[in-house]
Amino acid sequence: MSTARILTVDDANPEVLARKKVAVIGYGSQGAAHARLLHQGGTDVRVGLREGSASASAARKAGIPVVPVADAVAEANLIAVLIPDTVQGRVYREEIAPNLNPGDALLFAHGFNVHFDEIQPSEDVDVIMVAPKSPGPMLYREASQGNGVPALIAIHQDATGHARDIALAYAHGLGSTRAGVLETTFAEETETDLFGEQAVLCGGLSALIQAGFETLVDAGYQPEVAYFECLHEMKLIVDLAYQGGLTGMRERVSDTAEWGDYVSGPRVIGKESRKAMQEILDEIRSGAFARRWIDEWEGDAPEFNRMRAEGRSHPLEEVGTRLRARMAWLQDAEEKS
Ligand code: NAD
Ligand code: MG
Repeated sequence: MSTARILTVDDANPEVLARKKVAVIGYGSQGAAHARLLHQGGTDVRVGLREGSASASAARKAGIPVVPVADAVAEANLIAVLIPDTVQGRVYREEIAPNLNPGDALLFAHGFNVHFDEIQPSEDVDVIMVAPKSPGPMLYREASQGNGVPALIAIHQDATGHARDIALAYAHGLGSTRAGVLETTFAEETETDLFGEQAVLCGGLSALIQAGFETLVDAGYQPEVAYFECLHEMKLIVDLAYQGGLTGMRERVSDTAEWGDYVSGPRVIGKESRKAMQEILDEIRSGAFARRWIDEWEGDAPEFNRMRAEGRSHPLEEVGTRLRARMAWLQDAEEKS
């Protein structure tokens, strides 16, 4: 196992950003955090949004000028594309590409569109990635308190010879050099991100919770009890692993739970699951997953909408909604995240 070098405050040259006019396209989770942090750090920032965008008033309230996407790109020489991945290709072709100048830098927070060729920038612009490893609100909160969240940087195209300096200075502007910046590639970031969310975080976890819940309910146990065991207590375990790794988690649960972990975990995630993980990774790497997903969203997403409706009507959701309504501490959880 090789270990990566972690870049910190001394590796960045903040002057690089002082010479840039930045356009942040999109003012959602990431966009709002990036625009506000850079603006507060003294960088020349404008936000590019669609006509009539609901986010515009929030950006103006933060003291940041809001202009149409095309104008923002034309005015700026560092363009951060922070709109949803599913609209980036279209917005890029229609509003960003026609307004780019040679020597501009295009910045992404996720590599999907560039890596899978939905966006193919001309050779005379820098194409870089700065991907903070947290949602925007946490990024903003940590950085404005003088801390930072870790970030990945990557260079897809270095037209000016300064692409890496720009990416590092931008990551520094988000406070991420205080927490550590790791160099990666668009391929590694995109493929591992997709694999993680499919096999482990979203797909793997949801399927595990649902299968556990259904196994208990089908065996005649009460759905409420099954909900507590298979979903509610997940947070306790995840928090322990987040703080101390799997070793820390195992030290805090009972010896019985730890023994059951060793003897039963590998039966649940056995040969068949590992084979599925390998196939999922192969489909991500070959581009087959991206092709299927892009076709889906360009075709009004019929399968996506069907599966979303199915998930929402699963008995686990009905039981959970009822139980969570009585958990007072959850009612204000939204604003804490
Ligand atoms: P988001 O959905 O929170 O933001 C959407 C923003 O884009 C809104 O301001 C919306 O008004 C604007 N927008 C939507 N459609 C538009 C259009 N057609 N033209 C112009 N503006 C439009 O997005 P996000 O979650 O911040 O994701 C932005 C990028 O950051 C993505 O590439 C994503 O993969 C990446 N990223 C997100 C997170 C995260 O935690 N959310 C973390 C790391 C990287
Ligand atoms: Mg420009």
